[in-house]
Order: sequence, then structure tokens, then C-alpha cells
Amino acid sequence: MLNPLSILLVTVLSSAMAMAVLGSLWRAAIPGVGYWISANAVAIVALLAFALQGHASRWLTFVAANGLLAFSLLLVLEGCLGFLGRRTRPWAAYAGLAAVLLGISYWTFVAPDFNARVALVSAYHAGLYAALTVILLRGRPSNRPRYSYYFLTAAALLLCVGHASRGVIYGFGIIVQSGLMQVSASNIIFLAIGILAPPSLSIGVVMLAHDRLAERLERLANVDDLTGALARRAFLSIGDALMKASLRGGSPFAMAIIDIDSFKAVNDTHGHAAGDQVLIHFAAFVADSLRVGDVFGRLGGEEFGVLCPATTTAEAVALLDRVRGRLAALAPADLPRGLRYTFSVGVDERRRDESLAQLMARADGALYAAKASGRDRVMAAA
Ligand code: GH3
Ligand code: MG
Ligand code: MG
Repeated sequence: MLNPLSILLVTVLSSAMAMAVLGSLWRAAIPGVGYWISANAVAIVALLAFALQGHASRWLTFVAANGLLAFSLLLVLEGCLGFLGRRTRPWAAYAGLAAVLLGISYWTFVAPDFNARVALVSAYHAGLYAALTVILLRGRPSNRPRYSYYFLTAAALLLCVGHASRGVIYGFGIIVQSGLMQVSASNIIFLAIGILAPPSLSIGVVMLAHDRLAERLERLANVDDLTGALARRAFLSIGDALMKASLRGGSPFAMAIIDIDSFKAVNDTHGHAAGDQVLIHFAAFVADSLRVGDVFGRLGGEEFGVLCPATTTAEAVALLDRVRGRLAALAPADLPRGLRYTFSVGVDERRRDESLAQLMARADGALYAAKASGRDRVMAAA
């Protein structure tokens, strides 16, 4: 059972399974998935070619088999680059692949040398795994769970070490071997480690792809489609957490409720599309004017909220009034369709042990007062 041929065939099966699993992600159009599926298909052809050693031409079972296996890893790397949004082609890796093909041909036909072939191919694989490790560590988005990224990075790092040691051991002639299918303990140990490569890489990339799906769903649930501001539910749940933190830490916490003035008239006079443009402009303008740490969300319609941790009512009033002044000072060319609009704001800060809803109700009352006293102003709760 534990002979090179059965190890190769088990790896073929695991790659086929990986293709089936990755196929389930095809329709989600996640960048990289096409490369990862192709990588497994190429690996299957390569492994079958290796398995034919002694029964078919050396072009197929030595040169093509090694070239294709290296190419399949290159495809995994390409997939990861695409997944992480990197548009660059790894040209050095393609050049390295050409060098591997030349070296394999030389040590197969001109000066046959199994150890030299293993050293060359292992060095190339170790290099690609090292590149994969670096790309994953550098490209990991800081706002996503680390688990899947670290899983794949750890797999790449271990495979890099495995290939590097194999390259050194064979390159320096510590083990001398005549062919891949030779039944020897060292050969079987290295092949058995190698057998883990396709499944661990595939499990890793499937986890990455699933995290991307989760990210899309979270975005749909938490971000308002039209304006890109936080959606109401996410805004309120962050507000709850920030309010509790401020109660624990004893720091002030202010909330502002903003409502665009006479917005119905914008819709009625210029059409709903113009109204949408005003909402988009407003959200981008406010988000751009707030400080790091402030939280901005759309509560519904043309009503928005701002959460200001470690901020008093007076400071929040000043902040929102600066935003109001900056909007009023914009040139017509910077406004959607040149439409000038204003907004009103109600502000208050948390009092002792109270809920976010209670604070929000008072800020809302202040907003109502701002509207009643003529709009285009920021008012604190009485
Ligand atoms: P006020 O100054 O008192 O706030 O007057 P207003 O006209 O802004 O207030 P009102 O609440 O009567 O109008 C809000 C309007 O916002 C009504 C609704 O049709 C419009 N609206 C709500 N959501 C959207 C949206 O997503 N796009 C557009 N274009 N209009 C929206
Ligand atoms: Mg309004
Ligand atoms: Mg309103």
C-alpha cells in the first residue's frame, strides 16, 4: 500500500475531489477560483504522467510530468495573487519554470542524474511556496478573520521547508536514488509529505473563498447600498457597544441625528434620481469630514446618524456645525447637478446608565427643534 505508485494515485483522487469542491464556488465569480481549479486539473495530468514512469517516454514521464507539476503550483500562486487583487504576473516564476524544463531535459537525456533533477525541482517548488507565504502575509486584509489566511500560510511554509530539505538532501547526495518510483523509506517519506500538498492547499483556498463569500454577505447586511454608509442595524449595534464601553470607561459619548432639509422638494422638483445623487453626495461628504473613530450610518430615507466616542455635546455640535459650514461653502460644480442643499442636526450626549434608544430619542427631539427653528442648523438637546 505504502509505495510510490499508490501515493501518486491517492493524490490524483484528492486533487479530483478538490476540483469538485472548488467547482461549487465557480458561480460566485471569486477571483482566483478558476486558477485553483485549473491547478488541480494540471496536477492530475502531471501525477498520472509520473505514475507512467518506466512505461512511457521520458519526455512525458520526466520532462512534461515535472513541468506540469511545477506549473500547477504556479497556477495556485496566480490564483492567490488574483484573489488578493494583485494584477501583476509573476514573470520571474515563469522564467524559473523554463529553467526547470531545460534542467530536467539536460539531466534526463544528456547527463541522466536523478538527484540533480530532484534538487532542481525541489528548489523551484520551495521558491514558489516561499513566494506564496510572503504574498499571503502581505496581502491578508486586516479586517477579515485571520484563520483561513494563517492556515494557508502555514501550509505553504511547511511545504517550503519540506521541499527545501528534500532539495538539500538530494542535491548534496546525502541520499542517492535512481528513480521516483523506487521503493525506499526516504522516498516514501518525502512523497507522503508531498501527498499533503494538494489537499492542504485546496482546503486553504476554499477557506479563503468562503471567507470572501461571508464578507460579501456581511457587506450586504451591514452597508447601505446607495450611500455606502453603515446600514441602520449595524449602526445601532455598534452604537450599543460604544455606549457600553463609554459607560465602563466613564468617558463622554455623543450622538447626532442628521436630516436633510426639504428633501421631498428635491425629489419633487428634480426627480428621484437627483434625490439619490444628493444622498450619495451627502454621505460621502459627511464621511469624509468626520474624525477617525466617529461612526456614520444611514438610519433611513434622508436621515443619518453619527456616533462620537469620547466627545461631549458641545464638541459634537462644533464638529457637525463645521461640516454644515463646509457644505454651504462648496462651489456649485462640487454639488450634484449643482443642487444646493442643507441639513439639520440634533445632538446630545449620554447620561448615566441609559440605553442608546433613550439617547437617540433626545437627539431626535433636538433635531425636531432645529427643524422648527428654521432648518440648516445644529442644535443640542435642552
Ligand atoms: P424636512 O426638512 O422637514 O426634513 O422635510 P423633508 O422634505 O426632507 O422631509 P420628509 O420626511 O417629508 O421627506 C423625506 C423624503 O425623502 C420623502 C421620501 O420620498 C424621500 N426619500 C426617502 N428615501 C429616499 C431615497 O432613497 N431616495 C430618494 N430620492 N428619496 C428618498
Ligand atoms: Mg428631511
Ligand atoms: Mg426625514
